[in-house]
Amino acid sequence: MKTLVAKQRSFFNTNTTKDISFRVSQLKKLKRLLKENEAILNDAIYKDFKKSAFDNYTNELALLHSDIDEAIKNIHKWARKKKVRTNLVNLPAKSYILPEPMGVTLVIGAWNYPYQLSLAPTIAAIATGNTVILKPSEVPENTSKVMANLINKNFDPSFFIVMEGGVPETTELLKQQFDKIFFTGSVPVGKIVYQAAAKNLTPVTLELGGKSPAFIDKDCNLKITVKRLVWGKFLNAGQTCIAPDYVLVHDSIKDEFLKLMVQEIEKEQFSFDNGNYVQIINTKNINRLAALLEPDKIFFGGNYDSQTRKFAPTLMHNITFEDAVMQDEIFGPILPVITYSNLDKAIQDVKMYPKPLSCYIFTSNSKVRDEILKELSFGGGAVNDAVMHIANSHLPFGGVGNSGIGSYHGEAGFRTFSHYKSILEKPTWFEPNLKYYPHTAKKLKIIKWIMGLR
Ligand code: NAD
Repeated sequence: MKTLVAKQRSFFNTNTTKDISFRVSQLKKLKRLLKENEAILNDAIYKDFKKSAFDNYTNELALLHSDIDEAIKNIHKWARKKKVRTNLVNLPAKSYILPEPMGVTLVIGAWNYPYQLSLAPTIAAIATGNTVILKPSEVPENTSKVMANLINKNFDPSFFIVMEGGVPETTELLKQQFDKIFFTGSVPVGKIVYQAAAKNLTPVTLELGGKSPAFIDKDCNLKITVKRLVWGKFLNAGQTCIAPDYVLVHDSIKDEFLKLMVQEIEKEQFSFDNGNYVQIINTKNINRLAALLEPDKIFFGGNYDSQTRKFAPTLMHNITFEDAVMQDEIFGPILPVITYSNLDKAIQDVKMYPKPLSCYIFTSNSKVRDEILKELSFGGGAVNDAVMHIANSHLPFGGVGNSGIGSYHGEAGFRTFSHYKSILEKPTWFEPNLKYYPHTAKKLKIIKWIMGLR
C-alpha cells in the first residue's frame, strides 16, 4: 500500500492530472465503461442483494452518468481562476483564488448503494484532478469485484485503482499518508477514519447516517404524502442513509395515515419478482432488524425469512422514544410511527437525538414548515417529499454533527476535493513607506485612516 501511494504521489507530481483535458478523458472513459458494462453491473448487484436492473439504473447508475456529464460540462468554470477584490491596504495589486487538486485521495464506500457511493465521490475527485484509491465495501462482494475488474483493467493504477478488502485492508490503508479521505459509512467507523486521518493531518469528508425524522402535519396532502413516504422508506428495503427513519404524525390524522399507508404498501406490491424490493444485505442485519420488532406494536408486516433475506415492509405504532426501534438508525424496512399533538414538544423530542442526515416535512402550512426548518439542524431534506433531494446536484449533499462532515454532488463535490489557493499579486512600481521603520505617529494616523479607524 505504501508503494502504491508513493506511485500515485509521483504520478500526481508529474502534473498530468492538472490538465483539464486529461480529467475529461478519464471521466469519459469511466462513463463509457459504465455504459458498455451495464449488464455486468446489473448482474453483480442482483447477485449481491437482488437489486433489479430498473433500480440499479434509477438509483445508482443514472446518478453517476449525470455526475460525469455535469462535471464535464462545468469543469472549466469550476477550475477557473477566480478574481476577487483587493483591499485598500494592499493596493495596487490583483487578488485571485486558484482551485487546485488535493493530491492522492482515498475514497471508502458503503455497501447499501455500492456503485453510487463508491463512484460518485470518485467522479468528483477525478474532475478536480486528484489520483484515487477506491476501497468499496467488501459486504456486497460481487459489486466490489466487478468494480475492481473494470477499473483496474482500464485505468493506470498510479492514477486510479480499486483496492478490495475489509477491516484489515482498510486499517492498513488508513495508516498511509493521503491528501484527502472521503468516507461513507456508519458513525462508529467514521470516528475510526477521523482519528486515523488526524494522525497525518489529512482532511476528511465523512458521509454518515442517523435517525432521520418525517413530520406529518395535520394540514398536508395525505394521499401524496403517503405515496412519497412509502416510496422513500421502502426503496432499497429501507437500507438508505436518507430514508425516513421514523414518522411523527399529528394524532388527529394518525388512523387515516396508517390506513392509507397500508393501502399504499399493498398497492406497491414490493417483491423481488416485481423488481421493486431488495434483500436485506446479510443475516446479521436480518437478525438486527428482527430484534427491533415488538409483536404487540406491529401494525402491518413484521414477517421475514432469514433464508431468502426478505423482510416485509413493516409499520409499527404506539411507539415511544424509549422503544428499542428508536435507539439507533434502523437501516431497514421498519417504520415506527409516533404521534404528537404539540409540534414544539415533538421538535424538542427530535432534538434529543444527534443531528440527523435528513428531515422531511409534510405540510401545506408554511408556519409549520418554517418552524421545523428554523428549529432543527440536519444535513438536508425535503418539504412534501422524501429522499429526492439527493437527485438535485445543485444541492450540496452531506450531514452535520453526528451525521457527517462536508458535502458533495455537483460543484460541492469539486469544492470538497479542491484546495483554494489564495494569491495576492503585486506590481513593483509602487511601495509606500508606511509599514517600514521608523514608526512615526503620523504613519500610525494614516494607517488607522486606511484601516477605517477614523
Ligand atoms: P460501515 O461503516 O460498516 O462500512 C463502511 C466502510 O468502512 C466499508 O468500506 C468498510 O469496509 C469500512 N470499514 C468497516 N469497519 C471498518 C473499520 N473498523 N476500520 C476501517 N474501515 C472499516 O458502513 P456500512 O454498513 O457499509 O453502511 C451503513 C452506514 O452507512 C449507515 O449508518 C448509513 O446511514 C451510512 N451511510 C451514509 C451515507 C451518506 O451518504 N451519508 C450513505 C450510505 C450509508
